[in-house]
Amino acid sequence: MATLLDGAALARSIRAELRADVAALARRGVRPGLAVVLVGDDPASAVYVRSKTRACQELGIGSETLRLPASATTDEVAGLVDGLNRRDDVHGILVQLPLPPQVATTRVLDLVSPTKDVDGFHPENVGRLVQKRPRFVACTPAGIMELLRRHEVPLSGRRAVVVGRSNVVGRPMALLLSHADATVTVCHSRTQELAAVCREADVLVAAIGRAGLLRAEHVKPGAVVIDVGMNRVADPDEARRLVAPARLAELEKKGYVLVGDVHEPSVAPVAGALTPVPGGVGPLTIAMLLRNTLAAAAGAAA
Ligand code: NAP
Repeated sequence: MATLLDGAALARSIRAELRADVAALARRGVRPGLAVVLVGDDPASAVYVRSKTRACQELGIGSETLRLPASATTDEVAGLVDGLNRRDDVHGILVQLPLPPQVATTRVLDLVSPTKDVDGFHPENVGRLVQKRPRFVACTPAGIMELLRRHEVPLSGRRAVVVGRSNVVGRPMALLLSHADATVTVCHSRTQELAAVCREADVLVAAIGRAGLLRAEHVKPGAVVIDVGMNRVADPDEARRLVAPARLAELEKKGYVLVGDVHEPSVAPVAGALTPVPGGVGPLTIAMLLRNTLAAAAGAAA
């Protein structure tokens, strides 16, 4: 049975370590600040933003959420970002995705000052990552690397397969694994023989957005499986197919159950290690956001 890689516990210890950085900044008279731009009223985005701002507050990082209605234009969002770029008390800027369809996401993300881009989405920061001289690295892949490092998962010379090639997760993940000397394959919706390719992986990362897509036949026995997916499943029949019976109470309580891209009940007996959903990758994403914000504040004060 796979060892469960507890991201929540690891994120707690990372946050405890970051307290020293907050204290060091305070001694220099700097209070780090994160500004979150939230456009519209997507319920999942609202939950993520609340988790991020609460984590900031717990650590003594100033945080504010700037809200715009779902009808906001690109110019309105851009104007908000522009104002935040100019503020000295704001060290990190995060534009919560997805933005409403009428807003030009790329234009907005490109406007965030690269030195405040704590999500690591600005082309300058992506380019630096490509060249292996990173400044801010996208938080989810950075958190996964931290998890692999602290669990001493060997990467050099090992086969890694990343399913998903988004700018947010899959692509930067593949770069980081390659920088760590893994031999990396990136899969996507057009990949043929997905299960056979995935079975080559010593480290398999699922960043797809399809609940329970990867099953036992995708996993080499003993592989380390990282499940990035966060899918809300509200249909009781689907939920029963995807999660262990013990978790079905969540469905009653919340109206949905959070399911990864990995079918845990079938994969856990095959994999060597597996990140749970929830409590795996998600908390590490937030820990890396805090770390990036502190680095931005330290950089601004240097
Ligand atoms: P995304 O932008 O929708 O990208 C999904 C990727 O999966 C695409 O590259 C797509 O291929 C590929 N894909 C879709 N269907 C596939 C299939 N049947 N077989 C193989 N590949 C397939 O999603 P994302 O932003 O990367 O997010 C992925 C998942 O991670 C979501 O569930 C999201 O909620 C979750 N997430 C979690 C965290 C966290 O902190 N835990 C953070 C970010 C995202 P194409 O490129 O060909 O379309």
